[in-house]
Amino acid sequence: MQYDLIIIGMGISGISAGIYAKNSGLKILMLEKNMPGGLLNKISKINNYPGYREITGPDLSLELFNSVNELNIPYKIAEVEEIKVEKNKKIVKTTLGEFESKYVMIASGRESRKLGLPNETKLLGRGISTCALCDGALYKDKEVAVVGGGNSAIEEALYLSNIVKKIYLIHRRETFRADASLVKLLNEKKNIEIFYNSEVTSIIDEENKVKEIVINKEKTLEVSALFTYIGFEPSNSFVKDLNLLNENGYIEVDENYETKIKGIYAVGDSIKKDIYQLITAANDGVVAAIRIIRKSKKEKN
Ligand code: NAP
Repeated sequence: MQYDLIIIGMGISGISAGIYAKNSGLKILMLEKNMPGGLLNKISKINNYPGYREITGPDLSLELFNSVNELNIPYKIAEVEEIKVEKNKKIVKTTLGEFESKYVMIASGRESRKLGLPNETKLLGRGISTCALCDGALYKDKEVAVVGGGNSAIEEALYLSNIVKKIYLIHRRETFRADASLVKLLNEKKNIEIFYNSEVTSIIDEENKVKEIVINKEKTLEVSALFTYIGFEPSNSFVKDLNLLNENGYIEVDENYETKIKGIYAVGDSIKKDIYQLITAANDGVVAAIRIIRKSKKEKN
């Protein structure tokens, strides 16, 4: 069977696109390698998405997934390995086999950036975490460290400060990138100690669990966990052979969200753009879907 549109990724941009495409009558398939909602599942508090005064990331993910189910949007949990471009169709190779479509929309988003320390990958889930919401409760009344200086690091440090005994917040510069309102809340917290101009230079483990971290090669802090919030990198590696990526791994698109390969679109956190917010990701998905719907209808008439 050939689909009209395959959407890769069931985060907020992919699902927003899926809702419009399904409602328009296109034959669509959505693919997700992990959990619907994507990075949303790691966000403890959202208070800038219209319609919700405040909602947790997992609750918003569930709302999105409920829409997928209510609209009977077909989806599969499968990892995309490659997209092959043939004359009038695209073949999406996945861990569950190959699927064909006329249009493809890449909405595979981003994943957490790593510090690049030697034992970091080994200790992921053993003291190193990229999700305070998922793992914070494991460290109740313990001392932990958070690395980063953007909105994510500050928001998640604030969340953790109500659970753990003490937080060492480590930031590599003298000023935070995060919004002033968050920094103000941070400065009011009594159990957060901030280390400016500081980098984690090593992680010391014992029995395969985080025991200590060293900052600037000189100061050792005993911590039960290290939460890294140092930004994100696009998870687009399955298109690397299509020559669509810029030097930072983001996909370049035109004003219609179409890549330089006709029929392949990209949206949300996968693309090179200025503002990465939930609402702008949803916007990208909807605009791209409408462009595809219009083209597809013209072709069929
Ligand atoms: P970000 O804004 O890119 O900030 C990443 C932080 O990590 C920066 O402070 C950066 O330091 C630091 N960093 C990067 N690489 C590092 C390394 N190797 N070692 C140590 N520190 C490193 O990422 P984010 O905070 O995850 O936010 C991503 C996007 O989502 C942003 O656009 C943000 O505004 C948005 N967001 C919005 C909200 C909200 O609106 N409430 C909440 C969360 C996220 P430098 O500052 O020195 O570069």
